[in-house]
Amino acid sequence: MIPIAKPQIGQTEKDAVMAVMDSGMLANGTVVADFETEFSRFCGAEFGIATTSGTTALEVALRALGIGVGDKVITTAYSFIASTNSILYTGATPIFADIDQQTFNIDPVSIEQAVAAHPDAKALLVVHLFGQPCDMDAICAIAKKNSLLLIEDCAQAHGSKWKGQVVGSFGDAACFSFYPTKNMTTGEGGMVVTSRPEVADRARLLINHGMRVRYTHEIIGYNYRMTNIAAAIGLAQFARLAEFNAKRQANARYFDDHLANPLVRTPVVLSGATSVYHQYTIRVLDGHRDAFVQHLEANGVGYGIFYPFSIPEQPAYKGLGFSATWPVTDEIKQQVVSIPVHPGLSEEDVAQVAKVINEFKPKGVD
Ligand SMILES: *Cc1c(COP(=O)(O)O)cnc(C)c1O
Repeated sequence: MIPIAKPQIGQTEKDAVMAVMDSGMLANGTVVADFETEFSRFCGAEFGIATTSGTTALEVALRALGIGVGDKVITTAYSFIASTNSILYTGATPIFADIDQQTFNIDPVSIEQAVAAHPDAKALLVVHLFGQPCDMDAICAIAKKNSLLLIEDCAQAHGSKWKGQVVGSFGDAACFSFYPTKNMTTGEGGMVVTSRPEVADRARLLINHGMRVRYTHEIIGYNYRMTNIAAAIGLAQFARLAEFNAKRQANARYFDDHLANPLVRTPVVLSGATSVYHQYTIRVLDGHRDAFVQHLEANGVGYGIFYPFSIPEQPAYKGLGFSATWPVTDEIKQQVVSIPVHPGLSEEDVAQVAKVINEFKPKGVD
């Protein structure tokens, strides 16, 4: 089976972890600080605050920006659920917008409609889904015009660029995940990046039980600190991120050039966007997705369906009063299939994935 994801852990990661083990400083320390500095600089941000996950990074970013009970945050109906759960954790309310059919990212037109219906909305949380940046010209303009705080969920987009500018540098704060299936990993882990000193200061307090001075707790915070062990893996992975992303992009280019099944639509990347292909997500048309994924399974090709449901229709969101129908999301969720594009694929693997896809023919279709 060619897997849908495969973390690339090599000798540098192992050596870095052993060095931390030998140092005796396992928890928060200088390795974390170095990782924060290197990664936030790469994102074009002044400050980085490492956390235990992408989910906790999102919650901390929202809280650090003052989002809380009674606030409305406009966001996409189509993402991993953590994007929206983080809003609910703060006591705020998500206001959903639909997606663009071509890119699967939040649709600026739908954001405008959400703003018109909710002129009191306080923030806009966008997700650069599958490694492709949102249309940041349109989104920054909407945020500015309506005085919305802007948060970027970059959990799938480490190093992705809009018109040459790296994601994580557009808004008031941005959040990354370092889960093993992402473009780089720390095991579990995340980071808030921001160039606003007061937001960074607040985020730093929030992840460390509100402590600036030992055992003086200024606010009610959490323990969301990253360990030195995780940060050591992160530094080693970060050194390889450009190579990982280049490999993903080369694999994607191969699929763009070689997938030729009339039932399959390859992903569309906007002009101005540089995708880092966290996923290579195709659309299988005419209701043939079930047969298509059975064909992949029978032929040893791993796949993922990201995502089979919109967020507002998830069981956990039933009864919270959200509309469960989003025309574009509802069409796309029935068509998408993500195929292996990760840097662990060999040339033979990539060719094999393309071959299997091109051979797919549903029963009864000539
Ligand atoms: C993975 C992911 C998260 C959450 O990250 P974790 O590290 O798993 O908590 C948030 N948003 C998106 C879009 C993600 O893909």
